[in-house]
Amino acid sequence: MTDVASPTSATTARSRDPLAFLEGEIDELRAKGLYRRLRVVQSEQRSRCVIDGREVITLSSNNYLGLNTHPRLRRAAIEAVERYGAGSGAVRTIAGTMSLHEELEARLATFKRVEKVLTFQSGFTCNTGVIPILAPEGAAIVSDALNHASIIDGIRLTKAERKVFPHADMEALRATLREVRQAPGGADRTVLVLTDGVFSMDGDIARLPEIVEASEEADAIVYVDDAHASGVLGRNGRGSIDHFDLHGRVQVQVGTLSKAIGVLGGYVAGSANLRTILEHRARPFLFSTSAPPAVAAACLAAIDVLEGEPELIDRLWENARFFKEGLSGLGFDTGSSQTPITPVIVGKGALAMKLSDRLFEEGVFAQGIGFPTVPDDRSRVRTIVTAEHSRAELETCLAAFAAVGRELAII
Ligand SMILES: *Cc1c(COP(=O)(O)O)cnc(C)c1O
Repeated sequence: MTDVASPTSATTARSRDPLAFLEGEIDELRAKGLYRRLRVVQSEQRSRCVIDGREVITLSSNNYLGLNTHPRLRRAAIEAVERYGAGSGAVRTIAGTMSLHEELEARLATFKRVEKVLTFQSGFTCNTGVIPILAPEGAAIVSDALNHASIIDGIRLTKAERKVFPHADMEALRATLREVRQAPGGADRTVLVLTDGVFSMDGDIARLPEIVEASEEADAIVYVDDAHASGVLGRNGRGSIDHFDLHGRVQVQVGTLSKAIGVLGGYVAGSANLRTILEHRARPFLFSTSAPPAVAAACLAAIDVLEGEPELIDRLWENARFFKEGLSGLGFDTGSSQTPITPVIVGKGALAMKLSDRLFEEGVFAQGIGFPTVPDDRSRVRTIVTAEHSRAELETCLAAFAAVGRELAII
């Protein structure tokens, strides 16, 4: 029996803080210039908002179309709260499937032109929930090197063989597919090809026609995570599969409801069998509570807006073109971006953080991003323009980039 009454031994046992190693890690972040405080948004999340007490133009939200403050979404959320309450009360498989969830899924399936959709709490939980089911032991996963962290975590939850090919390198993809098929027992195994539709840190679009063709030749499943393409690419924002007209040739599409859709959540779009197996086996679906009614209702309203106000997407792309040309015209390295995500790549993490801090002082919020999100020598400030930015706001941002970029000898 333990001696519960002995204060001396308790004191001895507690003489060292078992969490002391965290301080060392934090010191290391400081030493590398990667330490950052969370900035706090104190107003609505719009192109101009109040952050840390200062009014700034933000280039850091994923609110591509301004939907998170759209009157139709607000109204839908309020009405759902009044009618159904604040929370859903359970996981989907027990008592947490509400009529609004089912309505949203049916609507998304029609919108995405697939048989079925299943929603999750977030895009992140889609990837961690779905990938392990599609890649059982013995399967091979072939994944682009720049895929999102949630794809990487999903892969980590499998016992499948993992092969990472250099970003967007189609020769390497084909060679990897040949390799996994030609390995002993390779002919019969499940092969899963994973890619972002739009790469979140570089803003380039996946080479989907080639990825689909290579995967078809190798009888592999194609899985596209369209988080940054949802509401941005394709007709009415249907995503990258619609953009390239690859309907019916991509077996699994993941979308997010948290970015351009303006609310919160993720979804998987595909066949009826895919939905059925996920309903039975996807762990975030089984073990984590479903979205509140207001979230589902606001997402439904967002699809109405995508279908009814396509001019928002036109404005987003006009702004993206203007801003991207402005930045590269000033001499910044904007990498391979083709979308409203434009990185300003500066090199070391400390310089990216410095650029971001100085821009903030000039009234522009663009988050600095360093290791481990991107390689340390490719640290950057990432910008995202939205449909809401006025031309004058974007000009103000470009002027701030020009001044601070010269001051820090980046341009
Ligand atoms: C943002 C993002 C996610 C996560 O989506 P959430 O809905 O915010 O959890 C997943 N995949 C990619 C590629 C992303 O960019």
